[in-house]
Formats: sequence, structure tokens, C-alpha cells
Amino acid sequence: MASPLITLRENTIWENKHGTVSITPRSLCDVWNTWVGPGVSNGPIWRPGLAGLRALVAQAEAQNQRIRGLGGAWSLSPAAATHGIMVNTKPLNYIELGFRDASLDTAFSGNPDALCFAQCGASVLELYQYLEVRGYTLPTSGASNGQTIAGAVSTGTHGSAHSIGSMQDYILGLHMVIDGGRHCWIERASKPVVSPSFCQAIGAELLRDDALFNAAVVSFGSFGLMHAVLFEAEPLFLLEKSLVRMDYARVQAALGTLDVEALDLSGGRELPFHFEVVVNPYRVSRGQRGAYVRYMYKRPYRPTQASAGGSTWVQGDDVMTMLGTVTGWTPHLVPVLLEPILSAQLAPVQGVAGTPGFQFGAADLRGYVMSSEIGVALADAPNAIDAVIDVANRFHWSGFPAIRYVKGSDATLAFTNFSPTACTIELPSAGSPRTLEAFHRVWDELRARGIRFTMHWGQMMRENREWIEYGHGARVEEWLAARQSLLGATGQRAFGSDWLTACGLG
Ligand SMILES: Cc1cc2nc3c(=O)[nH]c(=O)nc-3n(C[C@H](O)[C@H](O)[C@H](O)COP(=O)(O)OP(=O)(O)OC[C@H]3O[C@@H](n4cnc5c(N)ncnc54)[C@H](O)[C@@H]3O)c2cc1C
Repeated sequence: MASPLITLRENTIWENKHGTVSITPRSLCDVWNTWVGPGVSNGPIWRPGLAGLRALVAQAEAQNQRIRGLGGAWSLSPAAATHGIMVNTKPLNYIELGFRDASLDTAFSGNPDALCFAQCGASVLELYQYLEVRGYTLPTSGASNGQTIAGAVSTGTHGSAHSIGSMQDYILGLHMVIDGGRHCWIERASKPVVSPSFCQAIGAELLRDDALFNAAVVSFGSFGLMHAVLFEAEPLFLLEKSLVRMDYARVQAALGTLDVEALDLSGGRELPFHFEVVVNPYRVSRGQRGAYVRYMYKRPYRPTQASAGGSTWVQGDDVMTMLGTVTGWTPHLVPVLLEPILSAQLAPVQGVAGTPGFQFGAADLRGYVMSSEIGVALADAPNAIDAVIDVANRFHWSGFPAIRYVKGSDATLAFTNFSPTACTIELPSAGSPRTLEAFHRVWDELRARGIRFTMHWGQMMRENREWIEYGHGARVEEWLAARQSLLGATGQRAFGSDWLTACGLG
């Protein structure tokens, strides 16, 4: 009888990409879309991978072990870590575009040809490449492309698509492996997509429930192993990117309103599809041109070389990665170097067009980098940014605020769940104890000012129920209730972790 191929490494030290988390899991398993042994069936390509995930969950429960899905290991928080079984899902990267009518619920009103079934380990780069050659693209992504789709969605990865939201906001269905190795298809009751016959064909239990879907979609590995997601891809378009530098005072008002009229952007008063501001907190006076405004307009597609996979890391494309380069040789000098680094890396650009897969391309991960990111309501953005600048000027550290905007998320614990628009403030910094201290000072300052804020689950955060509740309020209980409704006690334990316990969520 054929069994799914799973390769094991035992007692191996695992580290995340930026070296902020290190752990020795009991086993680190790679799961493959491959059968081994006699009697191989001819089913779908993804079937062995699903069988592998199911077998691992059953094994974890039998051994009273914890189990967690691992994507690209890009999270700076320990969200993906466990001392039990860590499941490397990257080999599970099957992607399929287009659904037959028989697989769809009659209420589905979208474009069946654009429906994309992506296995959990498909990376953002793989998705961009796959979709682009078929005339489609992702509706939005983060600034770069190394995450897996399941990993990205699970922590609420976002870019600055204020009209769309974060990556979880375009997900329509979740195929989850839960306790006992059972598998289910979760979608919203208010937005059914697949037909019961589709679920029967893949052997999954169909669960239609808005509260469950909204909780599960951003659940950082705690609702089971995500085998696949379903989303509607967007017809391919171009993004025309510009970057201009100006005084902080000039951009300040727009940070809380998104009224860009006074900024003299190339499109005038039109709010660009992507609007992002990096601030040098040590150069906020008049004449110091401490604000770097990067913006992108959506344009109709025309053939271009600037497509997914064609971009390597280029200057200014990912503010988080650049400090890692410097920290290798001069960590203590970074605050002094910030101005020349920022001005070199965020050099002016005028109207460079490329596909989204090109604009949000590769990031070269180097050095010991730390990052934290908070979400606030749009109206609170100026006060929150002022808090960060204030802390930096009282306690110099190598970080700086990178500010982006997304439509508020419906996901219960998304850190962007501010309606109608969330402002995200990322603090990419060189890794050091001083940076950690600075993050704590920023969180304390925000709270002292009475600003409600949330923390990105995939970035460094204060792991503490009281602080999480400060940001999310009653949503924490809603999320816990949804988790209990899906998983029995055994499953809740299996899909828990020390980190989840520290957060007061498991
Ligand atoms: C260079 C760099 C740039 C970044 N840029 C951005 C950005 O622009 N915007 C932004 O919002 N964030 C950004 N981040 C953060 C990053 O997007 C998130 O941390 C994201 O979750 C990482 O995805 P991953 O595939 O690496 O998942 P991992 O870090 O491996 O895992 C993340 C979470 O997902 C869970 N998970 C993964 N796969 C599964 C699965 N199959 N089933 C169940 N759970 C699973 C893990 O258990 C974990 O809880 C960046 C990080 C780096 C290092």
C-alpha cells in the first residue's frame, strides 16, 4: 500500500530567516506530493501531500506532541516554532487555475476561470509567476515574495493596497487538516464558493460559517494544518512606481487622511493604488526632507520585461532588508548612518512600470534584522507616528517607521482589523538588545497616549494576553470560541505552542 513521502530530521536546530528565533523541534518534517511503495493511485497531484499532513497530525496526537505548519520561515516572531513536530510545507506547491461549474455553488458570482487553488507551500513568487503567464496576478501581497501563501495569510501579510486589504482578505476558502487527521473545507456562509459535490470529491467536510472562517484565516498555525487556499486572481495589470523625497511636515497631514492633494504626486489628487511613506525620525525638521514617499498607480497591462521573477533585490525595494547588510559590520553606527543609507536605498524613481510580481519581488535576507509592526486606525496614524518619532529622539536606535495603508480586515484577529482603513507602522531595525528595548518603549508610549494598536503576528511583538486584548478587545474571545468550535481538546493542544500560550491564546 502506497504511503505519502515524508522526510524527517530529528534533533536539528531550526532558525527562522532572520535568526530571531531558534529551537530544536523533536522532528522537522518535509512533506512531499509523492507516494512511495506499491499501489500508487492516479489521483490529483496534491493528494499525497494532503495524506502526509493527515498522517503527521494523527502521529502528533498519538504521541501527545504539538504540531505546527512551517512556511517560508520569514516570521520574526516564534509563530511557526514548536518543540514538537514542525512541518515544512514548502514542497507542497501545486497551483491550479480555473474551476468547473459543477465544483461551484450556484450562489458564486465571480469568475470561475480566475479561481485559484493553491497548495499551502506555494510561494508568493511561484504564484506571481504561475498567474502572470496565464494573464492573472495576485490582488495584493507584501513588499517581497519569499513567503508561502499559507504562511503569509496566517499572520495577515499585507502591502499597501488601501482599496483591497491584506492577503487574507481575498481568500475565499480554506482546506484544513484538523484533529484526528480529519480535513475540512471552510468558507463563509455569506459567500459560498464551492459546491458540496466538490467537497465530496476531495473527501472534505464542508463547513460554512462566517465566524469560523474569519477566525481561521488569520490563525498563525493554531487551527490546524492549512493544506490549501482558494482565491480569485485578478486580471494582470501593471503598477507604475515613483519615489519622491520631501519634508516630513508636508506629508504629515496626509498620514491621517490619505488626502494626497498637497503632495504634488504625478497623478495629482488621485490616491495611488499603493501609498507608502518611510520617515527618518532624526530628520523631521523643515528643509531636512526626511520623508520618502513611494507610490504606485494601477495601469492596464501591456507586455513588459518587468515581470515576476525578473526583479532581483534592487535599491530601495525592501526597507527591512537593507539594515541587515550594515549591521554585519557597524551595528553601533547605524543611527548615524541612517540618513545616507535611506537616501541611497530610497533613491528617487519616476514612473517605472512593472507587473505586481516585479514590483514586489525578491528580498535578499542578510544580517541580523529585527522588525516589529503595529496597526492603528487611520485617524490615529499621525499621533502613533509622532509617538515613534518621539521615542527615537529620546532613545536613538537603528529603526525607522515605514508606513502603509490597507482596507480594514474582517479576519477576527488580523492586526489590520480597523475599519474602514488600517494604517500599519513597521519598524525595521538592526538586530540588537537596544532595538528590543526601543520596541518596548514604542509600545508603552502608544499605550500612554491611549492609542489602540495591534501587533503583526509575524513580527516581533509583546506576547501577552492583556496587550493583545488592548488591541483586539472582544475579538480575542470570538477567536477562542471559533477555535473551540472547530477543535476538540486534543486538537487544541496539538495545534498549540509555547508562543501561543505566552500570548494567552492556547
Ligand atoms: C524580508 C521580509 C519581508 C517581509 N515583508 C512583509 C510585508 O511586506 N508585509 C507583511 O505584512 N509582512 C512582511 N513580512 C512578514 C511575513 O510576511 C510574515 O511573517 C509571513 O507570515 C511569513 O510567511 P512564511 O511563509 O514565511 O510563514 P512562516 O513564517 O513560516 O509561518 C508564519 C505562520 O504561518 C503558519 N503556517 C505556515 N504554513 C502553515 C500551514 N500550511 N498550515 C498552518 N499554519 C501554517 C506558521 O505556523 C506560523 O504561525 C516580511 C518578513 C520578512 C523576513
